[in-house]
Amino acid sequence: MTAAGGESTREDLVRSAARDWVEKRSFGATLPIRGVDLRSEFLFGGDQVRLVDQAGIWKPAWMAAAFTIRTTHTPAGQEAPYFDEIGADGLHRYKWRGTDPNHHHNKALRDAMKSRVALIWFIGAEPNAYIPITDVYLVAEEPDQHQFVVSVGDWVDLRPDSPAEGWIEKYLLTQTKQRLHQPMFRVGVIRAYEQRCAICALNHVELLDAAHIIPDSDEAGVAAVRNGLALCKIHHAAYDRGFLGIRPDLVVQIRADLLQEKDGPMLLHGLQGRHGQKLMTVPKRTEERPSAELLELSWNRFAAGAA
Ligand SMILES: [Zn+2]
Repeated sequence: MTAAGGESTREDLVRSAARDWVEKRSFGATLPIRGVDLRSEFLFGGDQVRLVDQAGIWKPAWMAAAFTIRTTHTPAGQEAPYFDEIGADGLHRYKWRGTDPNHHHNKALRDAMKSRVALIWFIGAEPNAYIPITDVYLVAEEPDQHQFVVSVGDWVDLRPDSPAEGWIEKYLLTQTKQRLHQPMFRVGVIRAYEQRCAICALNHVELLDAAHIIPDSDEAGVAAVRNGLALCKIHHAAYDRGFLGIRPDLVVQIRADLLQEKDGPMLLHGLQGRHGQKLMTVPKRTEERPSAELLELSWNRFAAGAA
């Protein structure tokens, strides 16, 4: 958003700098940022600017509209910790503070909706640590239900008299999946595997992916940690392309023809050397370990392709 003259205001600049900072600080929404750091670490022009407040909705006094929103962590075992609610249209909702439409926090959200500013949504990934979701817009308000409709990625006109058709909601759902559900999947998987590749134990988050056991394009490919494996870039690509498979008993099998090949150290140690070996890293919590059912489905596909 820019001011009428086209020049960026201090508020625009702070919002944009904060967006870049949280992206970088969280390794692209992979590692949660502690609440205490969100209160103290971000600086703009040498001044400390708080990114969260005690309440879920945060509007610094000098800003014209809400700056960030926050959803606290819900312990494991409870459903979907990363949103307030999902409407019948599949889009997320963010609840008002209380039930008074004129509470200053609710006004701050309404102003953000009207001026179409991008908010940062901090979602609790652990007690007191948050994953930032950037480019979050409030696109409509449902006053009778005390909530706003959230769009992740783009602002779109969802008002009843707008020309928006069904495709816009479909588009928004795709955006939400990519911009919100995938990061939450990724952060859950990387955390469960303690930032190590399941196959080789590489411990550099920049080189790790959250791989799906069953692709999310598949009906069985749920975005849950039990359908995930933390894998380094090489092992992720090797898994997705059928260079290796993982048996339901968590033993790695390298494709037969690759075992015959002679090549450099990556093939020798990184692939052939893992043949017949158990996964090096598995989550401590039983419910986060790879699902035997999903592994079997994936293993059968690998075995069929490798035969
Ligand atoms: Zn690896």
